[in-house]
Amino acid sequence: MFALMQSTRLESLHLSVDPVTGLKAVIAIHNSRLGPALGGCRYLAYPNDESAVEDAIRLAQGMSYKAALAGLEQGGGVAVIVRPAHVENRAALFEAFGRCIQQLDGRYITAIDSGTSVADMDCIAQQTQHVTSTTSAGDPAPHAAMGVFTGIRATAMARLGSDNLEGLRVAIQGLGNVGYALAEQLHAAGAELLVSDIDHGKVQLAMEQLNAHPIANDALLSTPCDILAPCGLGGVLNSHTVTQLRCSAVAGSANNQLTHLDVADQLERRGILYAPDYVINAGGLIYVSLKHRGEELGTITAHLSKIASRLTEVFAHAQAEKRSPARVADELAEKVLYR
Ligand code: NAD
Repeated sequence: MFALMQSTRLESLHLSVDPVTGLKAVIAIHNSRLGPALGGCRYLAYPNDESAVEDAIRLAQGMSYKAALAGLEQGGGVAVIVRPAHVENRAALFEAFGRCIQQLDGRYITAIDSGTSVADMDCIAQQTQHVTSTTSAGDPAPHAAMGVFTGIRATAMARLGSDNLEGLRVAIQGLGNVGYALAEQLHAAGAELLVSDIDHGKVQLAMEQLNAHPIANDALLSTPCDILAPCGLGGVLNSHTVTQLRCSAVAGSANNQLTHLDVADQLERRGILYAPDYVINAGGLIYVSLKHRGEELGTITAHLSKIASRLTEVFAHAQAEKRSPARVADELAEKVLYR
């Protein structure tokens, strides 16, 4: 654990348990140079405690890089709550977690992420003000989807020479809060959708509402398409799955899509343009950060629109230097964080 903390340059790690509610929580604060750490709270089952800690650390690092490249005065942090097999009182568990956040005195601000809802954030808000994406603040997912949508346009422009999405085949893995909202925008822009989700109800809905083509979960990555949009969980691109891809570019919302940076080089060698996940999916963080600071929607939308130009800048550097956009993005973020 300490080795991973050192290699990722993590600032601090906070572990909490509450025997009454069954809470087991990890809060990882990666870097607070630019401001208090902000990042989502996951509520998922993990094969073991170590994998929950590792997930929190890696995601927190991504949040720091994301905030740095999005131009936010915010550090990177993430919380992971290990979902118990059975929970007696979910509201009480999230309130207990709210007390853990309060103890950090504003050093970490939480938000919605996979497995958590606006209602959970409302429970946390009973105990601390260091929480966003509550009922009154709003769900960041539509804003994340909007950012990914504009990022897909920028990716199409860089790789295919046009940002017209009419007839473009986009394969979306995961039709959750972000994935479904993205699918709606792509459909409205005339893209052809190929979709998969482990929840067949969501696929069915996309077939009915968005004329999407269903793809089996284990076949989505190898489905021929123009753009692959991973919008489920992270780690989908590894040295093996990259060899199966039949797309021109990868551009999706999932955090930590690559298991390792070498995978980005592999994509580059295969001629597949990779939109670095934390650059293209920054819309959610931009929304919660600026909303928490009391900014108006117009200001937030203007900030969101910079995602496409930032991505274009990363692609241009990468092309000029013949390197993966993922390496270029990391370098740019590290210049901001450690200069
Ligand atoms: P979500 O939990 O609402 O949706 C994830 C969806 O992916 C679910 O429908 C799930 O069934 C599906 N899924 C999981 N594994 C799958 C697989 N192997 N194959 C097909 N479908 C699979 O989560 P979300 O809020 O939509 O977030 C999606 C991703 O985007 C996550 O990685 C999250 O960290 C990232 N992200 C979210 C936001 C946000 O504001 N919600 C912002 C930035 C990044």
